[in-house]
Amino acid sequence: MASAKVFIFAAADATGESHRMLERAGCDLLIGKAGWETPRGDNEEEMRGMAQGAHALIGTSIRSSPITRRIMMSSPELRVVSKYTIGVDDIDVDSATELGILVTHAPTESNWGAVAEGTIAMMLMLLKRLRQRDEQVKAGGWRDPALTGTYLGSRASDGYPGITLGIIGMGRIGRRVSNLLRPWNLRIIGYDPYVGDDVFAAHNVTRVELPALLGTSDVVTLHVVLTPETRNLIAAPQLALMKPSAVLVNTSRGGVVDEDALAAALRAGKLDAAALDVFAEEPLQPESPLRGLGNRVVLSPHMVAANAGGGLGGLGEGVRWATESVLAALRGQVPDHVYNQEAILQWQERFLGRAVLSG
Ligand code: NAD
Repeated sequence: MASAKVFIFAAADATGESHRMLERAGCDLLIGKAGWETPRGDNEEEMRGMAQGAHALIGTSIRSSPITRRIMMSSPELRVVSKYTIGVDDIDVDSATELGILVTHAPTESNWGAVAEGTIAMMLMLLKRLRQRDEQVKAGGWRDPALTGTYLGSRASDGYPGITLGIIGMGRIGRRVSNLLRPWNLRIIGYDPYVGDDVFAAHNVTRVELPALLGTSDVVTLHVVLTPETRNLIAAPQLALMKPSAVLVNTSRGGVVDEDALAAALRAGKLDAAALDVFAEEPLQPESPLRGLGNRVVLSPHMVAANAGGGLGGLGEGVRWATESVLAALRGQVPDHVYNQEAILQWQERFLGRAVLSG
């Protein structure tokens, strides 16, 4: 039996253990260039060349060099595009589905749970003015009313109502954020047109429409997938609905927020602050208007989910899941964690029971 070809377009396993797993199973590996993950530029032709004849593509997020239809079409043998991470917005999923190729991802708790924790850390950093207090003391200063923080929860003792948190996107991460914050006794409202009332009820989140969420929340946090519908979901008209005292946290995808509009709103004092882990273009470009806004922004290098022992870096959960998905597909089995479920029938007709691995 001819060996299977696997193109690792963006490696993440520094230990190489997952690569050895694939090789032991009989795969020939081709590893893409590390630089593809970050630069501006068009690497499609080079990637097409390397993807030729591949049975599987696997890798981490590669936003500036997405897995396009043309790349997938360069191999009629291609069965699966497998991500070590949750987001698949760097893959042309619709084309994959049309072509009968499965897209798998790795929604591990070490990833989505970490995003929820990191979101809360970023939110507290803003609300409790931690950076400003730290700067003040390091500069030789001490207490100052300008460093006063926000109390989050409601208080029985004096009737303080607490703040309102608005969650946009009630999926894995949005739900975990609400669960973690529930004991803090804040009012939590949410917007997500695609989940049922039962989800809102189970997580004690009051369902509202987007304009109401934006107009009443003290903290707005984004947990939607990036789709044509959610691109620029938060642009100038939406920012204008927010309270001038409110803060915005985005750990979902940069494209969900219009960054120029956000920078303008922050500069004009129409919004108090923002904390961002994700950007329309990554790494954040030197000329981005988000730089130079001082303490009005917390900027994080898309690392909110990165924790010791997490899913990437070695044979962590995410790398293992993605590698197992590739091996299953190469054995002619439908892998776990298929993102484009609607592609499964066509895929089964093409590949079910047809192994390209001897093991
Ligand atoms: P999920 O699929 O479980 O949840 C996404 C939710 O968004 C769904 O409930 C869906 O109904 C909702 N949604 C879709 N369109 C919407 C719209 N127009 N308005 C409101 N809600 C809408 O995904 P998840 O695992 O919770 O991940 C959420 C986001 O976090 C994704 O964008 C993902 O890529 C991102 N993420 C970021 C990092 C990071 O490192 N910063 C890590 C993991 C995930």
